[in-house]
Amino acid sequence: MNAQNKNRKDRFATMAIETRNYIAGNWRDGAHRIENRSPSDTRDVIGEFAQGRAVDVDDAVAAARAALPQWWAAGVQRRHDVLMTIGTELMARAAEIGALLSREEGKPLAEGKGEVYRAGQFFTWFAAEALRQSGERVDSVRPGIEIDTRREPAGVVAIVTPWNFPVATPAWKIAPALAYGNTVVWKPANLTPASAVALAGIIARQDLPPGAFNLVMGSGREVGDHLAGHPGVDAVTFTGSVEVGRSIATRTLGNRARLQMEMGSKNPMLIMDDCDLDLAVAHAANAAFGGTGQKCTAASRLIVHRSVLDQFADRLVCAAGALQVGHALAEGTQIGPVVSEGQLAENLRWIERGKAGGANLLTGGQRLERPTPGYFMAPTIFAGTTNAMDVNREEMFAPITCLIAADSYDEALAIANDSPFGLTAGIMTKSLARATHFRANMRSGCVMVNLPTAGTDYHVPFGGRGLSSFGPREQGHQAIEFFTTIKTSYVAGGVPQ
Ligand code: NDP
Repeated sequence: MNAQNKNRKDRFATMAIETRNYIAGNWRDGAHRIENRSPSDTRDVIGEFAQGRAVDVDDAVAAARAALPQWWAAGVQRRHDVLMTIGTELMARAAEIGALLSREEGKPLAEGKGEVYRAGQFFTWFAAEALRQSGERVDSVRPGIEIDTRREPAGVVAIVTPWNFPVATPAWKIAPALAYGNTVVWKPANLTPASAVALAGIIARQDLPPGAFNLVMGSGREVGDHLAGHPGVDAVTFTGSVEVGRSIATRTLGNRARLQMEMGSKNPMLIMDDCDLDLAVAHAANAAFGGTGQKCTAASRLIVHRSVLDQFADRLVCAAGALQVGHALAEGTQIGPVVSEGQLAENLRWIERGKAGGANLLTGGQRLERPTPGYFMAPTIFAGTTNAMDVNREEMFAPITCLIAADSYDEALAIANDSPFGLTAGIMTKSLARATHFRANMRSGCVMVNLPTAGTDYHVPFGGRGLSSFGPREQGHQAIEFFTTIKTSYVAGGVPQ
């Protein structure tokens, strides 16, 4: 073992990791455990984590139901204080928890730390939001009656999250749920249980009624499915694949639970002939390969004006080749491993599908060997693709991006809009007229001008159109729409009007 690897192991040997579920205010073992290993080094065992069953979901939902009146009655100051404490601790411990996240998920250390810090910001922002709740007094059309509208919690909220942002995504769902007085049952992704228990451990130490927050780890097919379809759940918020989203939507229908889902994407980035090409290359490489391409905001369709296509392609190949792919915790790593063996195998199948469909592999496309056994893959660029090819229609969630040529801005926009998805979209241009037209006519939830498609703020709404999203927006003040319900109350005996 080299010195760097030994230091890594020593650092984590001292850190005790909780490995159980958290239900009704108690840490509890599951039916069995699964082992979790680092995708950067498959010899590195992070821990063995509890796997819940349907009965654990039943207990968690019952506990969340029982805690609901208490947590709502706790009032806005206590909810503010709890969220503020969670957020402050996450920010203070961003380096430590971020390292655990990076070790487990595979994103470079700086990104792991940044994600945990961002998760803290979600909590502190929603802490303040708890204090900003207000209603409305409305004049009645009938004399002597007073009306007001007020917000109440949606109820018991089921949260199902993916592995790619294993602390930030839960944070932007748990924080508003608790801020607005709901109680929570959270099912994290099985690929990232250590990140889940790190966050749950902080929440568990707060002044919450037992059952207000519950963590049930376990497989999506058993725990996730049972939770989504549970009759005791009032609202389900999910981030993940379109396929699982469809299944969850079907499961919630029977209970008429409210539903919010963020799913796949196929984000376009337009590279126009008048853009700053250096900036375009830097932003495209960042958006396509950052987080190993495992972001719902990744740029997977680069729609390039034909007059700059060759130049852009050459420079992007150089940029991709210069990216340092390696162990998530190693100094200098810019691109970590793919999250799992299964995801890497799927990515390599995409390479074959792309080639078979007529795409020209410009660079990458192969697994990389590194000093540690992990799931490393070369940043990959396909050229000569059309928007009709599978590689441009389906989400790959991989460090793979495709170049599509366009002869004009209008054609590029039409290609960008020709997708069943609509999460984020970007344009690189110096033309104010084009940028303005793009912002107005691109059918997506987020548009970026002279920025990568990935990289969003925490205090504004996030979400998409088409197959990318369903239900009210997440994040920002608009999160209140999903996490609360409106009550209109009428009182007779008011001042005659
Ligand atoms: P999934 O949609 O399969 O998983 C997301 C979450 O849903 C996980 O917690 C998972 O549990 C859970 N889940 C799985 N099956 C069910 C079910 N039947 N009912 C309820 N919950 C369920 O995504 P994956 O993580 O497996 O990734 C697969 C693909 O999904 C990726 O390649 C990518 O294309 C896409 N994806 C998109 C994301 C986005 O942000 N747009 C995020 C993640 C994935 P568990 O993992 O424990 O089985």
